[in-house]
Amino acid sequence: MIGPALLEYGTEEQCMQHLPKIVRQEIVWCQGYSEPGSGSDLASLQTRAVSDGDDYIINGSKIWTSGADHADWMFCLIRTDPDAPKHEGISFILFDMKTPGVSVKPILLISGASPFCQTFLDDVRVPKSHIVGEVNKGWTVAKRLLQYERTSIGGIGGGGGGPRAKTLDEIAKECAGENDGKIADPDLRDRVTQHRINDHVYGLTTRRSGEESRAGVAPTFMSSMFKYYGTEQNKNRYDLLVEMMGVNGLGWSGDEFDQADLGVTRQWLRSKANSIEGGTSEVQLNIIAKRILGLPD
Ligand SMILES: Cc1cc2nc3c(=O)[nH]c(=O)nc-3n(C[C@H](O)[C@H](O)[C@H](O)COP(=O)(O)OP(=O)(O)OC[C@H]3O[C@@H](n4cnc5c(N)ncnc54)[C@H](O)[C@@H]3O)c2cc1C
Repeated sequence: MIGPALLEYGTEEQCMQHLPKIVRQEIVWCQGYSEPGSGSDLASLQTRAVSDGDDYIINGSKIWTSGADHADWMFCLIRTDPDAPKHEGISFILFDMKTPGVSVKPILLISGASPFCQTFLDDVRVPKSHIVGEVNKGWTVAKRLLQYERTSIGGIGGGGGGPRAKTLDEIAKECAGENDGKIADPDLRDRVTQHRINDHVYGLTTRRSGEESRAGVAPTFMSSMFKYYGTEQNKNRYDLLVEMMGVNGLGWSGDEFDQADLGVTRQWLRSKANSIEGGTSEVQLNIIAKRILGLPD
């Protein structure tokens, strides 16, 4: 997400500093967008940056920062002009997570995992040269980065790790039996087939879009369509799987469940986050309505 955004908006020096490390996977980034009071309404963010000579002094806190406890650097949205209209006083800045004043608190989930953190910024001094794009024009960079993020989430469908899930067909045949190599239950066969057709058509559309981006076309508001459809389709897939698995789809741990079944349950739960991370489905529908269909605000 940050690499393409740097290519488009970063200075030569910023590109030379960060892109080689990104390409060689020598640096881990985290995303400092969301705040305790600013999620869908991201532009209301309150993390403040005050000018001090060649630096900014940053104060505030970011939340749901995925992997912040393992990250080397953060790309972060800060308010550099509190008096400007909310979208116009934001800047996009980069800093080393080891900078004094940055502290990270992992958030423990009911699953026992801590995939994300709250990140506190207390008098964090960052050189002004770390701003990407123009001061107070960070919203433009932020939106472009989100388009890359949304295309990526919509294309790969997320997933929660763990053992690889069985295919829909395999599970449907196990649960409903098979007849001549087909899923025996006609209703289930119909729903699985419909899902597979949608998957195939969506796959062709994402492939076309991938070819366009290889041809140098930057993502557009269409990325909201991919984010919306890809994540809803992924959730539908896991809803179908868990429904077909019955009791086996409800396991969390224990010898009575096999590892593949446990993997499906975890991925089913993780799939719910796909339509929240990177902007919720409702937010994507708002963008599609306004920016693609041209409906009034
Ligand atoms: C797995 C995961 C990883 C994440 N990683 C990061 C990260 O690394 N960095 C980061 O900065 N953030 C991260 N986030 C945070 C994510 O971007 C926010 O959760 C998301 O933008 C929604 O914000 P919120 O949680 O504050 O929900 P809210 O904005 O409070 O929304 C609550 C509900 O209201 C609905 N809603 C809100 N506004 C509207 C509207 N105008 N119209 C219709 N419905 C509306 C939403 O759709 C949602 O259903 C992550 C989230 C998840 C789930």
